[in-house]
This record gives sequence, C-alpha cells and structure tokens, in this order.
Amino acid sequence: MTADATIADALRMAAADLSGISETPRLDAELLMADALGIDRGSMLLMRMRDVVPAGFAPRLARRLAHEPVAYITGRQDFWTLSLAVSPAVLIPRADSETLIEAALAARADTPPARILDLGTGSGALLLAALSEYPQATGTGMDASLAALDIARGNAAATGLADRAALIRGDWRVDGWTAALPGPFDLVLANPPYVETDAELAPQVRGHEPHSALFAGDDGLDDYRILIPALRALLAPDGVAVFEIGTSQREAVSALAVAHKFDVECRRDLAGHDRALILRRRASA
Ligand code: GLN
Repeated sequence: MTADATIADALRMAAADLSGISETPRLDAELLMADALGIDRGSMLLMRMRDVVPAGFAPRLARRLAHEPVAYITGRQDFWTLSLAVSPAVLIPRADSETLIEAALAARADTPPARILDLGTGSGALLLAALSEYPQATGTGMDASLAALDIARGNAAATGLADRAALIRGDWRVDGWTAALPGPFDLVLANPPYVETDAELAPQVRGHEPHSALFAGDDGLDDYRILIPALRALLAPDGVAVFEIGTSQREAVSALAVAHKFDVECRRDLAGHDRALILRRRASA
C-alpha cells in the first residue's frame, strides 16, 4: 500500500486479505480502521473514506491476520444494547447469546424478576443486559476468574449498573459453591462452557478465547451436570432458569433437566439453531 492510500483503498485491500480467515472480512477491516482512528464505524464510513490511513491500522490488521478476534484487538464488543469492554480473560459475547435475554423477557413478561443470578458471568454481558431490562432488579454475577470479575466490574460501572450488580468469585467445580450466593433467585442465567474437548473450533476461538469458558469434557455436558441439580437450591419456587446450549445439545440437556424435575422449553437463535433452554420447576415436583 502506498503512503497516500486512502482509507477506502485500504479497507478494500484489507477485506480481500481477511477473506481467507474471517467470515466477515469487510466488517472486520472497518472495525479495525475505526478503532485505529478512535471514532465509531458509522462516522468513519460517512466522513473519513478519503483520508489517509492512520498508522495504527497496519498493526491491528496484522493481529487479525494472525487470527486474533477483532474484539480482543479493539477491546470492545456490543451486546444487547450495551457496549462492553472485553479482554482475553473473558469469552467474547456473541449475538447468539442475546437469545437468552429474549427468552428471559418472554418467560418473565408478567412478573419481572427482582433477583437475578448469572453463573459464569465473564464480561458481565448476560447479567448487565438483564439488569438494563429490569430497572427494579438486583443481580449477582459469579465467576471463577478474578481477571474476568475485574472486566465485569468495569462494565457494570461503565453501563451505570454497578449499584445493582454484585460480582463475586465462585467456582461451581468446588463443593459447597452455592452457599455464598444470596438466593433464592427469580431468574438464573448461564452460558456455561459446553464445547466438547476435542471439537473442531476456528483458530480465532481455540487459539484466543479462554478454554475455561469453552470446554466442558468429552461430551460438553460436564457443567450442566453440576448446574442443573444446583438449581433446586438456587431458584425461587416460581423462578426461571435460562441456559445457553450448543446447537446439538437440546435433547441431552433437556433430559438432564427433566431428570431433575424441571419443565423445559427451547428457544432458537436468529440462525434457527437451538440456543436457549428455559427451565421451570415442574408444578407437581
Ligand atoms: N458459542 C461458543 C462457541 O461456539 C461456545 C460458548 C460456550 O461454550 N459457552 O464458540
């Protein structure tokens, strides 16, 4: 690229370079360019396309070409209506996970939850999105990672939700972990690890995102086997739990929930994949 290449030229070339490694090459290039300029993507597209390329673009593009996710390069990811900080200590919030918020809103349409729990909160995405929808609610986000809790606390403060969000350390793989939680809860959210240990994952995921947030044993169900039984102690009598699942896990996780006396519904994401299971105590149980 010549020194006086415009942003429009550079975006075109970068999108071509990224087409081999990204499903969204043009978008990636635009987000990295906007980050290098220090402005939002919309303003860049409207006003800066003839400008010279900022020096910060090349190193950002090089990182992306080495499979680093855009969100870790820019340090930000939008989720629901929120703009969140992210780092490699947390899973990058996915649009698919917004299905859990839609499911919660539908499940609790008549009686908004007063107490919300997010298990494995990571960046705080699910907890903060839920708190933003329920202005009367308070919530607890639990995570085993102190680095993740730092990110979540920063996001709680930046979104103006810190006074309603308690972020606490806890590890459900250690016996007695529910004791520290101020339940019972009206709404329990969780996007636990659910990927099979030897699943094929894109290099930008396996090579960069926290394995503790992704992998859950040979069949990807290890964490559901802990969390679903624990719901009986955590949920209020008419409480609702909404768990993210992998696209092929509906039957297996539903079976676990039914065995623990929950009624189960499933909600699909925008791509039409099974994505969220909604669990309620069975009336007779
Ligand atoms: N949806 C993520 C992925 O497929 C997995 C997230 C998770 O394990 N909770 O990369």
